[in-house]
Amino acid sequence: MKINIFWFRRDLRLHDNSGLYHALNAGLKVVPIFIFDSKILDQLQDKVDARVTFIHDTITRLSSDLQDTLGSILDVRYGDPAEVWPQLLHDYEVQSVFANHDYEPYAISRDSQVKDFLSAGGVDFNTFKDHVIFEKDEVIKDDGTPYTVFTPYKRKWLAKLIRDDWDGKACPLALKSWPSEDLKSNFIQKSHFRAIPSLSQMGFQRSEIRIPSTQVSQTTIMDYDKRRDFPAIAGTSKLGVHFRFGTISIREKAMKALKLNQVYLSELIWRDFYAMILYQFPHIVKKSFRPEYDNIPWRNNEEEFKAWCEGKTGYPIVDAGMRELATTGYMHNRVRMITASFLTKHLLIDWRWGESWFAAKLLDYDLASNNGGWQWAAGCGTDAAPYFRIFSPDAQQEKFDKLKVYIKKWVPEVETVKYPKPIVDHKYARERCLEVYKRGLQKN
Ligand SMILES: Cc1cc2nc3c(=O)[nH]c(=O)nc-3n(C[C@H](O)[C@H](O)[C@H](O)COP(=O)(O)OP(=O)(O)OC[C@H]3O[C@@H](n4cnc5c(N)ncnc54)[C@H](O)[C@@H]3O)c2cc1C
Repeated sequence: MKINIFWFRRDLRLHDNSGLYHALNAGLKVVPIFIFDSKILDQLQDKVDARVTFIHDTITRLSSDLQDTLGSILDVRYGDPAEVWPQLLHDYEVQSVFANHDYEPYAISRDSQVKDFLSAGGVDFNTFKDHVIFEKDEVIKDDGTPYTVFTPYKRKWLAKLIRDDWDGKACPLALKSWPSEDLKSNFIQKSHFRAIPSLSQMGFQRSEIRIPSTQVSQTTIMDYDKRRDFPAIAGTSKLGVHFRFGTISIREKAMKALKLNQVYLSELIWRDFYAMILYQFPHIVKKSFRPEYDNIPWRNNEEEFKAWCEGKTGYPIVDAGMRELATTGYMHNRVRMITASFLTKHLLIDWRWGESWFAAKLLDYDLASNNGGWQWAAGCGTDAAPYFRIFSPDAQQEKFDKLKVYIKKWVPEVETVKYPKPIVDHKYARERCLEVYKRGLQKN
């Protein structure tokens, strides 16, 4: 029997999934698949990685939803996609494969290889936008070039959203939902289930780190602009990990944000912005967006890097953030900015070192936003903080954690003799940073 395949990647949900909707609407029964990509997993140093546990749990739940309610399957494989696809074409008579776009350089090259392989076997590969509201070159300048500054990008993004059929009541076209859940009976019915590869078969162990809920109260979003900057209070949505793996729909959340809070919507636009920047300027994965910043002579002191990673710099707000990250896989946005600025500007450590540490630890790690955040902090990115604007950790603490509630939660020994002295004097570090950046930038 000829079938179509839907390939789940960073869209791990049955509802409002655009690629899945198109697959289920294409006239043939659909076999849903997921591949634990050994090329990605092998690169993870920590074999108790919370993201892998989260994906495994989500896939297990998706699989039992499909089995229990529909008698369908989720065919889950483990390996290099280049080797898994020939097996799949051997096991099924496939007409077309459906998936959603992924904008990371590795994914683009993987998809291009898969596409070539499928097309050589006479199989179509159809991909759709699902992960963002506007992608690639959908929001560009009038002269056809990509935006590199956020504010005009956002203006155009909003204008496009409103123009796309928005009459004040109806849903803008860009936020149209794809009710894949209504078509669930078009999944294949199968009685033989393949076992899902276990974490240990893939060389991992279960992590006990808790994943934030997908349920966020309406008041959190309504009050977002007033509460989002204070790390001691639960003023943000903590949905990052769910946006990352597609366990929630960006269209549904953007629609809510449009109605409830423009500042929250703006953060979702930053997410689209960075995904667009990564797609348009893939060199940013390894290099500064602004090439002149690649001449900065970083100090890269390993002892100091270790102190930063462990939350032992003697700057309480920095240490609190680093310890929150290590314990929970999360760090508040304000504190991400402070810790990143401290590493690059106070310690003059290459932003790529900090970026990799965050990439290993953050539940919501996303190449586009992480790289964007780090290059912003180091001053070398799109729309970045100018290099001469250097956060004072103490002033930031005074402003955003005046009562030290956040600090005392993560650094309980802060006011005792056990707490280390500052690793570097703020005033000295500030002047050194200005001098070193200036010297680096003059080399051009
Ligand atoms: C150095 C640094 C590294 C970062 N690394 C990441 C990362 O790996 N993954 C990631 O998703 N975000 C990253 N961010 C952006 C931001 O800190 C997180 O998205 C946010 O803290 C996640 O918490 P939340 O879900 O409660 O966000 P909320 O404040 O509730 O915001 C809602 C959503 O909007 C998006 N968003 C919010 N702020 C930003 C932003 N500045 N840029 C892009 N998207 C944003 C996220 O998807 C977030 O979940 C980074 C920021 C900095 C300064």
